[in-house]
Amino acid sequence: MGWVLGACGQTPTSADGAPAEHAERRFEFERVLMGVPFRIVAYGADAEAVARAARAAFARVKELNLVFSDYDPDSELRRLVAEAPSQPKKISADLARVLLLSRRLWEQSGGAFDPSVGPMVKLWRNARRSGELPTPELLAAARARRGFDDLILDAATETVAFRRPDLAIDLGAIAKGYAADEALAVLRAQGFPRALVDGGGDLSLGEPPPSEPGWRVAVEALDDPERAAAELVLANAAVATSGDAWQYVEIDGVRYAHIIDPETGLGLGERFSVTVIAPTGALADGLATALCVLGPARGPALVALHPGVEAWITTPQGTTHCTGKVPGSFPVP
Ligand code: ADP
Ligand code: MG
Repeated sequence: MGWVLGACGQTPTSADGAPAEHAERRFEFERVLMGVPFRIVAYGADAEAVARAARAAFARVKELNLVFSDYDPDSELRRLVAEAPSQPKKISADLARVLLLSRRLWEQSGGAFDPSVGPMVKLWRNARRSGELPTPELLAAARARRGFDDLILDAATETVAFRRPDLAIDLGAIAKGYAADEALAVLRAQGFPRALVDGGGDLSLGEPPPSEPGWRVAVEALDDPERAAAELVLANAAVATSGDAWQYVEIDGVRYAHIIDPETGLGLGERFSVTVIAPTGALADGLATALCVLGPARGPALVALHPGVEAWITTPQGTTHCTGKVPGSFPVP
């Protein structure tokens, strides 16, 4: 969604300009997974081996969909929420990792990032289908079910327990970024570190293409309104974007995005777009959603907690650029 990858796909040539014989070539693969087109770009010399690695990477995403999907009633997460175990129950390592990061983001964002918005997300989906906002009663009932701290997570033993049986968890704000990271890890493990995984707009980037400083990623209007897009050149990093450009419903002339303000229970109304660069896709994805809710006033404090993170928060009023503190740095008096 919205990404334009720059010129990084020329056929490799040797010093005299002739095509190099065993040089790495660029390969591209695409498959619809987790409801979005997942795309892999990878460099390698052996077409067969690259294709095999890409298949393994897609298989990993498919496996993760069976963990996180909110649409598949048989996913691990859906079954867990249906069961709502009051005693600690063992969960998969993938679910434990994503829940742990989610809890950190929930705490650090003061609840702006909250996977327990699940019931409100369902109301939003109904509103998009019917064109009508939920009744105040339905909204109040969904809001009353919020509270991610009612999920007791023990990361060491990889168990969870529910304090309430009606707690619902939706990891749609973070699962795609995590899946992109894991697909990239498969490509690396199979010997293809020069690779990129695009999980429907959540990018995880490995080593740069041959002879390039990084992957060229064009993002829509960041802090320079004169230009249609700004170009980022990145490697071994992740980029995520969130906003209301694609997923919104308009009711009585007001736009509501698919990102919920946990305070109101409604989709965000203001036009916004957030781009985040982070060391991992899971963090970039989660932060991007959190920053949409926090906005330019409260967002920079969250970003400051994350070394190596850079973010742009754009509203009709302009763009706020912020960065995480570099470890060991301290303010100069
Ligand atoms: P996209 O899916 O377009 O990449 P996001 O990563 O921002 O966008 O994820 C949006 C999804 O996150 C929603 O569809 C919903 O499932 C979930 N969600 C919505 N609001 C919140 C919130 N405040 N905190 C956590 N998750 C949310
Ligand atoms: Mg997100």
